[in-house]
Amino acid sequence: MTAEKTGSGPGSKGALRVLQLYPRDMNIYGDWGNALVLKRRISWHGYTPELLEYNVGDDFPAEVDLILGGGGQDSGQLIIQDDLQSRGPLLKDLAEDGSPMLVICGLYQLFGRFFKTHLGTIIPGIGILDVETHGTDERLIGNVRVDSDEFGEILGYENHSGQTTLGPGVRPLGTTAKGTGNNSSDGHEGARYKNVVASYLHGSLLPKNPAIADFLIRTAAERKFGTFEPGTPDDRFAVLAREHAARRPR
Ligand code: GLN
Repeated sequence: MTAEKTGSGPGSKGALRVLQLYPRDMNIYGDWGNALVLKRRISWHGYTPELLEYNVGDDFPAEVDLILGGGGQDSGQLIIQDDLQSRGPLLKDLAEDGSPMLVICGLYQLFGRFFKTHLGTIIPGIGILDVETHGTDERLIGNVRVDSDEFGEILGYENHSGQTTLGPGVRPLGTTAKGTGNNSSDGHEGARYKNVVASYLHGSLLPKNPAIADFLIRTAAERKFGTFEPGTPDDRFAVLAREHAARRPR
């Protein structure tokens, strides 16, 4: 486990610890950018970000305020599967207790019940999310636009063979207006449960979707300090990134 701390000092409203799960094996299509956005926006809101990484075999940090997980190839998911199973009960307790979490694609799948790859290998999940995923020979690739009541229009990029079916224990993150999302038949993307946000969208997601970043930060601050006092984030680049993404063809 490695930690990086920035921006502490007088005037900080307090530290928020962000843990990125398995960045060595689960971090594709820019997912690490989600951690960088959280770091910057936590600072803009006046708190002190502490970025931590957790990889296979590491000690799990004692106090974590926000958890992130990225996507990965099937081979990366196979590498982490045993370690993830050993951390499953802890992560489930945190999720049930209301910890904010963002899991993308490969870790979205493994936060569910299982991912059966297109070769038929079953990679067990940790069952935080009532979803299951079946790999197919068709890869779902391209730019995605999602309409979400909670976060407005969500923009991102998908690339996955797994198709995820939602059970009654979760609700979709939103409705897919462009691209595919969870699967090629249901017309929705991602999953929401408690303060867990799960999505297929890379790109990375948070630079283009600061409303989701601020939801995670607000939830982390409220849980830790009992209140969230927003600062004044500089959204110029988020606006530009959204304009650029909105112009992209499929
Ligand atoms: N390996 C998984 C799939 O192909 C996840 C891919 C990803 O994280 N982009 O469905």
